[in-house]
Amino acid sequence: MKALMPRIEISLSQIRDNARILSKLYEQKGISLMGVSKAVLGNPLIAQAMIQGGVKFIADSRIENIQRMKTAGIKTRFVLLRTPLSQAESIVKNADISLNTEIETIKALAHYAHLHNRIHEIILMAELGDLREGILPHNFSEFIKKVLSFSPIKIIGIGCNLACYGGIKPDSDNMGQLSTLAKAITKEFQIDLEIISGGNSANYQWYQSTKTLDHINNLRLGESILLGRETLYRMAIPELHTQAFQLVTEVIESKDKPSLPYGKICQNAFGDFPIFDDRGIHRRIIIALGRQDILVSGLTPLTDLKILGASSDHLILDSNNNNLKVGSEVNFNLDYGGLLAAMTSPFIHKQFSYI
Ligand SMILES: *Cc1c(COP(=O)(O)O)cnc(C)c1O
Repeated sequence: MKALMPRIEISLSQIRDNARILSKLYEQKGISLMGVSKAVLGNPLIAQAMIQGGVKFIADSRIENIQRMKTAGIKTRFVLLRTPLSQAESIVKNADISLNTEIETIKALAHYAHLHNRIHEIILMAELGDLREGILPHNFSEFIKKVLSFSPIKIIGIGCNLACYGGIKPDSDNMGQLSTLAKAITKEFQIDLEIISGGNSANYQWYQSTKTLDHINNLRLGESILLGRETLYRMAIPELHTQAFQLVTEVIESKDKPSLPYGKICQNAFGDFPIFDDRGIHRRIIIALGRQDILVSGLTPLTDLKILGASSDHLILDSNNNNLKVGSEVNFNLDYGGLLAAMTSPFIHKQFSYI
């Protein structure tokens, strides 16, 4: 039988290694890890590999992904990273912990937690400058007073998320603010905060260089476990695997053609008026993969090929005179955006290996 293409080859042992090395690194100074599974749609085998590597929680932004992992029998504490009001009932039933910033939502969680006779745990997110989600620090005290009136809700921690929207880097200032906030909350409300979650894969340099972690005791890591990189500069983290995912695709046309389209130029399928360089006759290949499957900018060919462009279903490359035949395999490395798209495309087969 011919191997299926396009396919994404996923090395579970490399993901497990990455989780293990990162767990060791961060646990040295008392930081526990949440393995973030949203980029891989909550794939249960990948979540299991993260757990085998030592992460203490699995966190995802979508309740459907958490449901998928639970149905597959994954046993861990599940954390929902993004909490829509309309899904409150499903969240209470499926997630152990959710991240929250809105009283309305927490009220709905409390309602369903009461209805289903459960305690739902929450982590309150603080806005520390990145301007994605977060309660402003000076509003925390008042916010917590309201939350304490909902008896089925238990505040187990606080957290923040940086370097996502505003590109703000985690440093001693904002990490210090989070610790100060934790101290103030503990003092004012006598709440035992189990989790002070300082951020994500962008916290690596801060962790390596900081003299004190103060009260920070948790991070939520997706990209560094999956792709072996920190995310401020996208540098590889020592000892980690950076190619646990590889995309394998199929050549469907290979011909010498001019590099300049001929005929009258109008807009292309995506509404652009493309401009081309005339580089003479080149061997071009077409791959059966397109914008419907992948973020083209997220692909790096592993051989000496140059991506020229893509339509919905066709990826066009200059073969740099590599002799690739119809049916040949072409491999690509993926960045986070490429991984996200490839894992989401129903047309890309997922192939797992244990080596
Ligand atoms: C996606 C996400 C993460 C993980 O980010 P990485 O850069 O992949 O480590 C952590 N926290 C929250 C709230 C997220 O949404």
